[in-house]
Amino acid sequence: MPELPDIEAYLEALRSRVLGEELFGIRLVHPFLLRTVEPPLEAVAGRRVVGLSRLGKRLVFEMGEGAAERGRDTPLFLVLHLMIAGRLQWLPPDAPVARGRGLAAFDFAKGTLLLTEAGKKRRASLHLLEGRAALAEMDPGGLEVLDSSLDEFVEALTATNHTLKRALTDPHILSGIGNAYSDEILHRARLSPFRQTGSLSPAEFERLHQATLAVLGDWTRKLVAEARSEFPAKVTAFRPEMSVHGKYGEPCPVCGTAVQRIKYAENESNYCPRCQTEGRMLADRSLSRLLKADWPRTVDELEARGRTGGGGPPAGGASAERKLE
Ligand SMILES: [Zn+2]
Repeated sequence: MPELPDIEAYLEALRSRVLGEELFGIRLVHPFLLRTVEPPLEAVAGRRVVGLSRLGKRLVFEMGEGAAERGRDTPLFLVLHLMIAGRLQWLPPDAPVARGRGLAAFDFAKGTLLLTEAGKKRRASLHLLEGRAALAEMDPGGLEVLDSSLDEFVEALTATNHTLKRALTDPHILSGIGNAYSDEILHRARLSPFRQTGSLSPAEFERLHQATLAVLGDWTRKLVAEARSEFPAKVTAFRPEMSVHGKYGEPCPVCGTAVQRIKYAENESNYCPRCQTEGRMLADRSLSRLLKADWPRTVDELEARGRTGGGGPPAGGASAERKLE
């Protein structure tokens, strides 16, 4: 699932292509993509993209006044959630929509923004909202970590007692972090995914906060820089430069120990037993049950739980995610 650094990279690439540009219209190939009824999708045709932002793991296009609606200044917001397998492509103007994977095309003078989704399940979602209040309603409310102080971070994580893996990926607690970057953050912080947030010492919280800033900051800078030269084409949760995520059996880049995995519900967590769990292997049933008990059935479900929903049927996990890529 595209997470904060991936979404920021898309936004960077979109700024130079569609910001200030008129959206001629949206070719909606799969009607179920659109999860709202009012206002109708035609209402954005002829409006300009006046803002691009991120809401959790969602992309937000702020659509300003259209030529026909001068004087009316209630902005419309297109809110796009890619979920696990949704991806964007930038193609020439009036490009045809790819059969099978293509869900929708957003038509601009300079090009076509194509939304695709791999796999059979249709989980990506598009909402068209009128006004800022409606947009605020969609905000799961998680803390924006990159702008956070240590105190705010600790407060967010300790409001409820959860395993670290769950707390980092819960969009109601922290914004924009999913399965991939949470594995990387926990490895950097040298903390077990099973630790309970309530059990961390002040020093461990500081380490976790620093690791979160470093992992999200480094990846965002790297991916945004790449997006300046070309539209992101290989958005994936499995990158060769990652330390542990998707690296089961490969050596930990810090200590060389083979990276382990634990499966729970339909998810998978990767960790280094030497760096993170004092040499203990977590892949046993009782720990799997512990993590599973702290979890809705899937991360998808966790993600979709917002007040306004927006997810599809739950399924997935790391292996399913990899398959989709
Ligand atoms: Zn290690």
